[in-house]
Amino acid sequence: MSPHVEDCPVALVVDDDEAARLMTRIVLEQAGIRVLEADDGVPALAILRSQQVDIVLLDVMMRTLDGFATCAALRAMPDGDRIPVMMMTGLEDAASIEWAYEAGATDFEIKPLNFDVLVHRVRYLLRSARTANALRASQIRLGQAQRLARLGHYDWNPRTGVLLCSAVAEEILGLTSGTVVLDLAELLAGADPDDGPSTRRLLADSFSRGGEFRTSHRLLAVAGQPPIHVQIEGTSGHDEDASEAIVSGVIQDVSERQRLAGLAHQLTYFDPVTGLPNRATLGMELAQILATEQQGALAVLSLDLANFSRLNDSFGREQGDQVLRAVAERVGQCLRHGERASYPARESRVSKDLLSHTGADEFYALINGLRAPEDAAVVARRILDAIAMPLMIGTQEVVLSATVGISVFPMDGSSSEDLIEHADAARRHAKAAARGGFHFYTSGINHLAANRVSMENALRRALQLGQFELYYQPKLRLADRQMVGVEALIRWHHPVLGLVSPCDFIPLAEETGLIVPLGRWIVHQACADLAGWHAQGLGGLSCAINVSPVQFETDGLLELLRETVTAHGLAPETLEIELTESALIHDTTRSISLLNEFRRQGFAVWVDDFGTGYSSLSYLRQFPVTGLKIDQSFIRDMTLNANDAAIVAAVIALSRSLHLEVVAEGIETIEQTAILEPLGCDYGQGFLYGRPMPAASIARMALLNLSS
Ligand code: C2E
Ligand code: MG
Ligand code: MG
Repeated sequence: MSPHVEDCPVALVVDDDEAARLMTRIVLEQAGIRVLEADDGVPALAILRSQQVDIVLLDVMMRTLDGFATCAALRAMPDGDRIPVMMMTGLEDAASIEWAYEAGATDFEIKPLNFDVLVHRVRYLLRSARTANALRASQIRLGQAQRLARLGHYDWNPRTGVLLCSAVAEEILGLTSGTVVLDLAELLAGADPDDGPSTRRLLADSFSRGGEFRTSHRLLAVAGQPPIHVQIEGTSGHDEDASEAIVSGVIQDVSERQRLAGLAHQLTYFDPVTGLPNRATLGMELAQILATEQQGALAVLSLDLANFSRLNDSFGREQGDQVLRAVAERVGQCLRHGERASYPARESRVSKDLLSHTGADEFYALINGLRAPEDAAVVARRILDAIAMPLMIGTQEVVLSATVGISVFPMDGSSSEDLIEHADAARRHAKAAARGGFHFYTSGINHLAANRVSMENALRRALQLGQFELYYQPKLRLADRQMVGVEALIRWHHPVLGLVSPCDFIPLAEETGLIVPLGRWIVHQACADLAGWHAQGLGGLSCAINVSPVQFETDGLLELLRETVTAHGLAPETLEIELTESALIHDTTRSISLLNEFRRQGFAVWVDDFGTGYSSLSYLRQFPVTGLKIDQSFIRDMTLNANDAAIVAAVIALSRSLHLEVVAEGIETIEQTAILEPLGCDYGQGFLYGRPMPAASIARMALLNLSS
């Protein structure tokens, strides 16, 4: 097809009379129209099929195919209705005019032709055809656009109920145009129970005020199909001749847009592997919780898995993701979730916990409404236990472990950033200490982490400046609740940080070797205080000191103890030492002979924090110790966790058969004592009976105890 030249239209003149064709060509060409010729219907149709033609001038009487048939054939061709056809004939009767129009002619001209008029008519027909074609093209484009946008329009007459709608609206509503709809609100109401009444209200309001309405909801228009998400707009007004009230508007299927928006939302706020809220959501949620009034304490737990990257490397990414999902599941079960988290939350989550997955092996839990900040430790312990349950990866069993750092609002920060950062610092500290698996944040840790060198220097000077003090915690015989001894627990009065916990400086003192001189000071101070109590008539009191593994490995400990007790006139039986399992198992042969020596000289030796280490009771049998101190984590969870209660019962029973004495640490409630006593636990220590306190307070308490 030759390109269509806009300013030079093409006319096809079809006439078997050669002279008539020539005349017509001359006048049309003078009017700027290009002319093609055919002497019969058959060649005319061939030209129409192969070339661009803008108008056809068609003689009626021809030999093979007459004008009527040619016109009808043209109209039957694709797009054949776009070309105006002017019939030319000498026949003047009404019947032939009627046939011509029936065959699809656009206009009719009688021969002999008036050429002036003919040129004007041809121009007019070309112009109106152009307008009609442009309109049709724009309608097609609009239709395509509407189809692509899934947008349709509708008109509804409330009096007759007749609904007129476009093809797309028909599709969306599942109706054919012209259907009588008695209740438009019912037709447009959504699939969800709340949508019906609200749509009805919107429409009623629009009717009464004559205004617009707009709604968006899920629609179940086509039975058996899943609901689609639609946006409906409308306005109530009058039809063109202002005689009838109508409602007209558009309806759009926005399901795909909704789906993409949902996907974008998911990627913005949630972790792709576990589907848990990501870091952005965590920050926003925490800020929101902080902005609302708190009931109880709020804790932020920062958790990471040990050796996850190694596991990922050896098992592959897919399996690694599976592990993360399993961890998410287990941790989630330790929290109060109720429902899966949604963001932005539909309702306030103030009373619920939130679990977030922020990176490869990094999780955070927000714990709400804690009775006391310390209770966060119960949750942390529960989480660590859940993670430590064996897990199958394919056919292989792996045991995971994690560390948890805890920060508590408002002590450890008032902004979400501070709380998260401090929980992270506490986690790093827990990791470095590699003990217990979790750690609370204290400003001391942060200081320590931030400026290790200055902390080390401060620690060095603290001894000379006399910034250390020994506190003592009472140890009671459970049978008669008599205070039989105390445990010395060191405190550091830091000039800036205030009272710093031993958890925050003992590890550093061990690393730097400062623990040795510090340990020497502890032995001297404890003996001095003990001698003081004895002098006050409290001769029955014994004192236990904590000995760090570094100190235990250093030669001269036994000599130090012996010399110091002698110097203070104390019997060795009144001084006891506490060692952790890790200190004992480092060099078993040496440990055994050293312990034998300690015992021979009269010092009692206790295994501290029993249950958190590696060894079993039967393994411990080879060490000549006085007894065990069951770690406070077991005592704490005993009333909550049947497992822990069973472990405590078994440890006590086995200890008795091995003739070992047992101390329960961290007793905080009467319920815990009520469980421990019938099990035959010998001694108890904990906040219930007394917090660690200065030496003078111990004397007052012991004297009161004696007089009662
Ligand atoms: P530990 O020897 O197991 O001491 C018991 C810890 O539990 C103490 O913490 C004590 O204050 C705390 N505690 C006692 N009863 C309760 C209770 O009912 N509830 C709770 N929540 N906690 C209770 P502290 O004093 O912070 O000491 C922590 C650890 O630091 C000690 O654990 C010990 O390993 C080490 N440590 C303390 N003083 C010394 C010391 O003089 N020398 C050495 N080498 N280590 C020490
Ligand atoms: Mg201890
Ligand atoms: Mg302990």
